[in-house]
Amino acid sequence: MSLLEVEALQVWFDVPHGDRVHAVREVDFRLDPGQRLGLVGESGSGKTTTILALMGLLPPSATVGGEVRVHGNDILEGGEDAARRYRWKDVAMVFQGAMNAFNPVMTIGWQIVEPMAVHHVARGSAARSKAGDLLEMVGLPATVADKYPHELSGGMRQRAAIAMALACQPKVLLADEPTTALDVMAQAQVLQLLKRLSEELDLALVLVTHDLAVVSQVCERAAVMYAGQVVEIGTMNDLYHSARHPYTRLLFEATPDPLGERAVASIPGSPPRLDQEVTGCAFQPRCSVAMDSCDREPPPVREVAPAWRAACHHNDEDAL
Ligand code: SF4
Repeated sequence: MSLLEVEALQVWFDVPHGDRVHAVREVDFRLDPGQRLGLVGESGSGKTTTILALMGLLPPSATVGGEVRVHGNDILEGGEDAARRYRWKDVAMVFQGAMNAFNPVMTIGWQIVEPMAVHHVARGSAARSKAGDLLEMVGLPATVADKYPHELSGGMRQRAAIAMALACQPKVLLADEPTTALDVMAQAQVLQLLKRLSEELDLALVLVTHDLAVVSQVCERAAVMYAGQVVEIGTMNDLYHSARHPYTRLLFEATPDPLGERAVASIPGSPPRLDQEVTGCAFQPRCSVAMDSCDREPPPVREVAPAWRAACHHNDEDAL
C-alpha cells in the first residue's frame, strides 16, 4: 500500500448550455513518503483540476469519480464533511501566486496558527511557537509572523505559504506552479526548499508545472498530462532519454536549453476542446507520427517497464 494512491480519477464539469466538460480522465499514480512527482502539461491539460480534486476544492459544478486513498482511506468518500477533516491535515496545498493564499488583513502568524486550531494540532502560545519554528524551517525569521502579506517580497510570501501549508504536518503536499511570478533566483530557492522539505519531512510532493526544467530540479518522476489524461509517466531519466509518447518528446524540445546548444521548438496546433468526445487519440491532430488507427482507436495505457507507462499506438507495436 502506498501513502497516496490515485486510481481512475475523473472530473466532469457541468456547463450552462447543457454539455459536460470531461476535464480529467482516468488519472492513476501512486506516491510513497518522500517521493516527488511532477504533473506536467500545457494549460488546460487537467493538472490543476487533478490536484484540486485531491484537495476536495472543486466547485459544486464538478463531479468527481475514481478513488484517492491516503494510507488506504478513500478521501473522496464522505463528501465535504470528510474533506474538511483531511484537507490541510493529510493533504495540503501551496497555491499558485502566494498573495492569493493569504488574507491581506491578517498577519502571517495568525494565518499559520488558524489551521492548527481548526485541526486541534496546537493552540495559544504552543501554536505561535510552532508557527515561528515553521517560518524558520522555510528560511524566514520567526518575526515574519507579525508581518502582513503585503510587507513581504514575492519569494518570502511563497516561503510563508509553504510554512502555512505545513502547519498541520500533512503527509502529502500539492504545489501548483509555486514559482510563477518569482524572479529566477527566488524560483531556484523555492524549488530547492520544496525538495529539502520533502526529504527531511518524508513528504510526498506533487508539483504541478508546465515546465519540465522545473520538474527536473525537484522530482524523480513526471506524469505528462494531455487533454485530461496521463499520457506518459516514468522517471525523469527514462522520459528525458527515451520518451515513448510524442507529446513528452515535444515538451522536452520546448524546454529552453541552458547551454544554448539547441533551438527551442514550439508545439504545433492546440489542445482539443474537452466538451467534445474524442474517438481516437486526442493528440492525433498535432502528432507528426500518427498512423491510420490513431483517429479511430484511443491508445491504451501500456507498461513500457516497471513504473513507466505510456499511451501511444507506437508503444503497442513495441509491446507486441
Ligand atoms: Fe501520435 Fe498515434 Fe501515438 Fe497518438 S497514438 S501519440 S496520434 S502515434
